[in-house]
Amino acid sequence: MFLTRFAQFSILFSMLISFCLPSSSFAAWKSPTYKGESIEVIDIHQHVGDARTMGPLGKDFLYKTLPNWLPKGFKDWSLEAMANLVLKPYTPMFGVKQECLNAGLSMCGLMAVYAPLTWGTVDNATIEAMLNDSRNRGPNGELWYFFGMASVNVHRFADAAEEELKELRRSLKHRMMKGIKLAFVHNELPMDDQIFDGIYSVAREFNVPVYHHIGSSPLRKMSDFKSEEERKKYLRSSAPSALEWAIERHPDVDFVLGHMGFDFNREGFDFTDEVYRLAEKYPNVHLEISAFGLANYDPEGKFMDAALRNLKSKNLLGRNLYGSDASGQPGAVPQYVKLTLKSMERVGLDANEARQVMSLNARKLYKMP
Ligand SMILES: [Zn+2]
Repeated sequence: MFLTRFAQFSILFSMLISFCLPSSSFAAWKSPTYKGESIEVIDIHQHVGDARTMGPLGKDFLYKTLPNWLPKGFKDWSLEAMANLVLKPYTPMFGVKQECLNAGLSMCGLMAVYAPLTWGTVDNATIEAMLNDSRNRGPNGELWYFFGMASVNVHRFADAAEEELKELRRSLKHRMMKGIKLAFVHNELPMDDQIFDGIYSVAREFNVPVYHHIGSSPLRKMSDFKSEEERKKYLRSSAPSALEWAIERHPDVDFVLGHMGFDFNREGFDFTDEVYRLAEKYPNVHLEISAFGLANYDPEGKFMDAALRNLKSKNLLGRNLYGSDASGQPGAVPQYVKLTLKSMERVGLDANEARQVMSLNARKLYKMP
């Protein structure tokens, strides 16, 4: 979640509207177009959330976007009011579903998250309840607008791995739980620890892809760590090379490398080249383009242009997935569709290539109904 423009959405405004929300249905839906043709878009990367589970690093990050003179109690309250508006799936006008509809998306992936240090916890059962909700229908009333990705509490693997895997299996039995989502960097645990191997075996059992956040987190800088040893350990939670053992050991499991190894902190730890190397070497590696194209990281679109240009020249567009990771910032989900399509135009993708990235690859990989 990248809620950096939180402050732009004024606290007073959120106070007012939270008391007078209409219970109206969702606004009209229109499919995006590319070079004059309508194009289906599936966003695999959306978050829901709850301010009460947010961890200390997440809170710190968001507090900094608020005026410093505000009392702490008021900051807490406004975070909660904001999260209730923009990080719930079905809140009219501002909820995640409305954002997705505004973007013209035909389907959206909701991710379970275990990140008690940073963004907090959204467990599998919470996502399943959102999937089962009667409002989980597409713009024309069709079944299943949201699909889900299940997660595990990676902190429990040292002593309760079997329990976690059992819970993962339980969740993946839901027909719309289409994959597994992991974010080692948010938990500061190394991806190369083989105690996590069972997760990939479950992925094979259920034939679902495993999504990893790859690259740094805007909530934790390398410079926060004092010793070289700590920094090295932290790198193992985000560097794609730390995952190569699993990619190699499980050739029949699909791995999605999220954010393509982008360094959100610009500290000289960009893993983009490493991510391309893995994708060229292993056919079970897929790359996802969320978050790094947001205006606060890439105002001129040069990172997105470079990514799409490289994916095309390396013949990887068939394993590239669209996601935004932009929920929580009003207007950012539609904006991400627009900036991606604009970048595709600049880079010169044809309509079929654009279609592959924006939806067809996700339809295939996540076996959409
Ligand atoms: Zn995310």
